[in-house]
Amino acid sequence: MAEQKRLARLPKVDQLLEHPSLQQLRPEVARPLILSAARQTLDGLRARLLDGQEVTDEELGGEAVALAAASLARRLAAPSLQRVVNATGVVVHTNLGRSLLARRALERLIEINCTYSNLEYDLAAGARGSRYVHVDRILCELTGAEASLVVNNNAAAVLLSLQTLAAGREVVVSRGQLVEIGGSFRIPDVMARSGAILREVGATNKTHLHDYEGAITSNTALLLKVHTSNFAVVGFHKEVPLQELRELGDRYHLPVMEDLGSGSLVDYSRYGLPKEPTVQEALADGADLVTFSGDKLLGGPQAGIILGKAEFVERCRKNPTNRALRVDKLTLGALEATLELYRDPAKALAEIPTLAMITVPYERLRERANRLAARLKKLGLERLEVSTVEGVSRVGGGAMPLAAPRTRLLRLAVKGLSATRLEQALRAGDPPIICRLEDGHLLMDVRTLVADDAAVIAKALAALAA
Ligand SMILES: *Cc1c(COP(=O)(O)O)cnc(C)c1O
Repeated sequence: MAEQKRLARLPKVDQLLEHPSLQQLRPEVARPLILSAARQTLDGLRARLLDGQEVTDEELGGEAVALAAASLARRLAAPSLQRVVNATGVVVHTNLGRSLLARRALERLIEINCTYSNLEYDLAAGARGSRYVHVDRILCELTGAEASLVVNNNAAAVLLSLQTLAAGREVVVSRGQLVEIGGSFRIPDVMARSGAILREVGATNKTHLHDYEGAITSNTALLLKVHTSNFAVVGFHKEVPLQELRELGDRYHLPVMEDLGSGSLVDYSRYGLPKEPTVQEALADGADLVTFSGDKLLGGPQAGIILGKAEFVERCRKNPTNRALRVDKLTLGALEATLELYRDPAKALAEIPTLAMITVPYERLRERANRLAARLKKLGLERLEVSTVEGVSRVGGGAMPLAAPRTRLLRLAVKGLSATRLEQALRAGDPPIICRLEDGHLLMDVRTLVADDAAVIAKALAALAA
């Protein structure tokens, strides 16, 4: 009986919609969302009452119900894909969007996509053109390739190349290179999808040139090397260098392809990081085709880039499957602008966020961490404990698994909150802040902070520790 009475006190939906807290959401929040939020809020309270849960009189009041509904409406209207603060120190963080675009790429995107463009129009001829020409010249100029083709991502580039060169025929690949990349990309599975037949050779840890040679038959179509980008084999280990595969390919008139995965145009070993083969080196070593991602170490938009001999690239381009993997103008515009920066390596390092974050000197990270720590201490929050500690970052994106560039971390604690709860609270923020939890400590790596992330962090902690 008491419940029935209390239920009757709940405002009606129509009344609720008239409340200023909900009225003021218009016009930013669409009416159906406000209505839905009002209904859900009322249904929730009704269910709790009928379930015999404790509900205070205050919660049932029109004011409180309207505020709760308004808050829900705002959440329903918020975008699902949203900004987050990456305080993990993993630069190419696949879950957090991989590479950030350079300002120049962003400006190009806006220009090309808010006006018409010559995407498939040959301005000189006044006739239909090809979307692939726009990045072709610069890709060849930067890498020494004869020809290029860009598709949706590197998985698509590998699929298209294998299908074009080897459908129904055999591809020889080392057993130690049958890699899985996070998110369900496995070389053997992609190979099966392409219609090519996998001919694995060697042992997990060692493959010799004679293993490849022994597997070649009249049905062999391709020698494939896969860059084992996301793990490392140490100890008793041998891979056949690309040059030797090239010579073998020449002897048997077989093309050679390398899936580079992360595919960098910059030699990172000059910045104290492990040596990774660059795209230019793979081509110079004789690969007929190389494939790599646009949004890993290149620091551009998601894309799969196929470079190499004109004959093979042209066949990939003409394969009808290419139409289904077709790259869009968003990608092409952002990719061209990113590549332009590589014409001046100093500019690429300074202006492409991925490159800048990977190569930033430790001294700068230390200063950045000290500045953020000082800013947080200045908030004067008694419950907040801040210190800086030594640590390492990760390149991420399945690249350079052994690289552990030195960094400076903020170690944070809020009295009365466990590190786990603090991590959750920061992750639930607006925008969410994604941190590291290590040995029971909440850590923030300043390497991957951008824009006004420091201000976002200060604001979130001020609210949590107040
Ligand atoms: C990352 C990676 C891929 C897949 O590239 P996406 O751009 O994610 O599709 C393929 N091969 C290797 C070796 C990789 O590292």
